Amino acid sequence: MRKLYSPKVVKSLMEAYNVKFSKSLGQNFLVDGNFVRKIVEASDIEGKNVIEVGPGIGTLTYELAQKAKKVVAIEIDRGLIPILNENLKEFDNALVIREDILKADIKKIVENEFNGEEFTLVSNLPYYITTPIIEKFAANNINCKKMTIMIQKEVSDRILSKENEKDYSALSLFVKFYSNAKKEFNVPKSVFMPKPKIDSTVLTLDLRIYDENVDRKRLFDLIHAGFTQRRKTILNSLSQVVPKEDLIKIFEELSISEKLRAENLSLDDYIAITNELENYN
Ligand code: SAM
Repeated sequence: MRKLYSPKVVKSLMEAYNVKFSKSLGQNFLVDGNFVRKIVEASDIEGKNVIEVGPGIGTLTYELAQKAKKVVAIEIDRGLIPILNENLKEFDNALVIREDILKADIKKIVENEFNGEEFTLVSNLPYYITTPIIEKFAANNINCKKMTIMIQKEVSDRILSKENEKDYSALSLFVKFYSNAKKEFNVPKSVFMPKPKIDSTVLTLDLRIYDENVDRKRLFDLIHAGFTQRRKTILNSLSQVVPKEDLIKIFEELSISEKLRAENLSLDDYIAITNELENYN
């Protein structure tokens, strides 16, 4: 049993393999066994397929591999690959792939490694690409059923916000459309090496589609138009993507005041506007 979360072990491995922590790759490694265990517990991966994004030196991977059916860990940093292979050599159900997660063909990996079966994403995410990773795994029909992810506390607050709250954003609506999101726990800066400037939160997203019938491209075009100009009224901001005269009629039809702003509308409101648009072109 190796204690990869021990600060001493992390330091000595990095030195032995001559690897430096990369700030630009968001490398803040977990060095607290309790939080590693809490993440694994929250992910509920006993006997399941797992993809881990950014395994680092394999701290979480090591614990996941003991419970999961199979773990595929995708890491961009070449320097970490020999460390990962060494740390995970006792597991025949753990596979390390050297790739940029944003370029990786997840559908193919799921076909090849999990026979196309469903999987759970577990990750202490590289924070500079939190949103694209959530989008990639939630929206692409790749059989991801659940995500247990550590992200910036500030992004977690945005995800969990509801209409009329100050952190409500296009991301809140996106995540609500694709999942039931639940906050698991906050994580202090002190349990990482090197210590980041911000606190983190672990979230679980149980993936499902909120409305199978709505035109998703139209829906998210509307939402983005609303939030890129969030200080404007919806009549003005949404007119980037829908003619004003149509919007006036649609708002009247749905009894939505044109003076509201993007942050005042619920997901149901955006869906209703999208569906109503079908009648206009
Ligand atoms: N899982 C480890 C832990 O908890 O100690 C490390 C987490 S660290 C916050 C993020 C990891 O993501 C780093 O190992 C980093 O090299 C990796 N990473 C950064 N960008 C990536 C990308 N585009 N694709 C795959 N991995 C990436």
